[in-house]
Amino acid sequence: MIMSPELIAEFFEDVGVKKQCPACDAEGWIVPPDTEGDGTGVLRFRADGNDKDKLKSGLTYVYVICRNCGFIRPHTRAQIVRWVRAREEAGSAERREA
Ligand SMILES: [Zn+2]
Repeated sequence: MIMSPELIAEFFEDVGVKKQCPACDAEGWIVPPDTEGDGTGVLRFRADGNDKDKLKSGLTYVYVICRNCGFIRPHTRAQIVRWVRAREEAGSAERREA
């Protein structure tokens, strides 16, 4: 699922993410282009301490950058995907009722 700036903005709005930068209180954010699966925005960690060569698991996230001070704020991709799916399910339930 590609996270467009519009989708991310809608998610922030819906879940009540504050617009202010926690570092400088400015309100403008840059959303870098999302290219799912290219390795950017992935925190890798080892799920199995015995296998030092393989990074078996990871946490993918989208991030936004404060236009004023450059503060980087990450949000896990899984949370946004859950939000999108819940919204889709709510939408299809409404259509069934109509
Ligand atoms: Zn800032």
